[in-house]
Amino acid sequence: VATLKESGLRGMGGAGFPTGQKWELVRRMEGTTYAVCNADESEPGTFKDRQILATQPHLVLEGLLVGMAVVGAEEGWVFIRHEYGPEEHVLRTEIEALRAAGIVGPDACGSGRRLDVDVFVSPGGYILGEETALLECMEGHRGEPRNKPPFPGNYGLHGRPTLMNSVETFADVPVIVQRGAQWWIDQGVGESVGWKFFAVSGHVERPDVYCVPMGTTVRELIDLAGGVTGGAAVGAVQPGGASSNFIGPELLDMRLDFAAAAEAGTMLGSGAVVVLAEGTDLLAASTNVLRFFRNESCGKCVPCRVGSTKAHELLRGVVEAGAARLDDAQRGQILRLEEAMRKTSICGLGQVALGPVVSVLGLDKGGAAAREQPRPDGASDQPD
Ligand code: SF4
Repeated sequence: VATLKESGLRGMGGAGFPTGQKWELVRRMEGTTYAVCNADESEPGTFKDRQILATQPHLVLEGLLVGMAVVGAEEGWVFIRHEYGPEEHVLRTEIEALRAAGIVGPDACGSGRRLDVDVFVSPGGYILGEETALLECMEGHRGEPRNKPPFPGNYGLHGRPTLMNSVETFADVPVIVQRGAQWWIDQGVGESVGWKFFAVSGHVERPDVYCVPMGTTVRELIDLAGGVTGGAAVGAVQPGGASSNFIGPELLDMRLDFAAAAEAGTMLGSGAVVVLAEGTDLLAASTNVLRFFRNESCGKCVPCRVGSTKAHELLRGVVEAGAARLDDAQRGQILRLEEAMRKTSICGLGQVALGPVVSVLGLDKGGAAAREQPRPDGASDQPD
């Protein structure tokens, strides 16, 4: 825990909560404890965890096992997206190897202590990646987010304290423990620490997963991906997946870091950089993003369920009519809906669903939206 705290490692699943602090909180809790690796990566453009699971499953499982040892959990789970069949197979093979080596099982490493890991395949649905919806689902309930607090670290799986981190976060842990906190700190650019995986997609020559030092600029990452398709200029970028606010080309030198992204009115989110070439219809693109969130809203709360439908209807009408921008009345309605959804939805989906659209309205005016984007976890202080 001390090493993780010193390293400055933060959750790579979206919210960026300090990992060492989370582990310390769960470690202090009493009673049966679980650990869950959230591998339900489902946001459009986000596929970095898939690659980590496929190529470095040992790091993910080792990080999960270290976490279990630290917080005193006997039972660990990898909750994996249902479309990730090949990665599930890789994980199961790796777990079998651990079992054969006596590292997991009823007498893990001859310690007389049970330490077991298994895979839970998501029944499907984007919202199950939300940490508390995931827990509801694992308990056999309808997969809807819980009100928070309490957070999973206090009241998680079956009401017990539960350590939950993302695939990338767990994969970082063994590396940091082995090489030391200072090594991790030294890897970042400037004030940034460590390495970060990004799934780069959209209008780039080489869409792929790239692992770069935290603090690399958006421009450098796009160059690494071969530049914009056909040598075109950048029109806009979503630096943190579908739920992150768009930034304009004037912010290409933004450092890919939690603080720098927040300062620019966006976020690192799910580690997906979506690049749109100049000339792309940004209103249509952001309306398409909203359509995804409308479809994936679990419907538990009215602002998200009704607001996303209403806003999408309005925007679709504008886009289909071929209008380049909203008139003042439409803009006002979208801004009011966004505010209502951001302030009253109980989970991150509803809170950020209209953010990308509003950021595009900001770009309309010649600059990135000048407001801070709420974290994808919304009111939560702990999620990964
Ligand atoms: Fe469900 Fe949307 Fe409410 Fe989240 S904000 S709980 S997705 S209805």
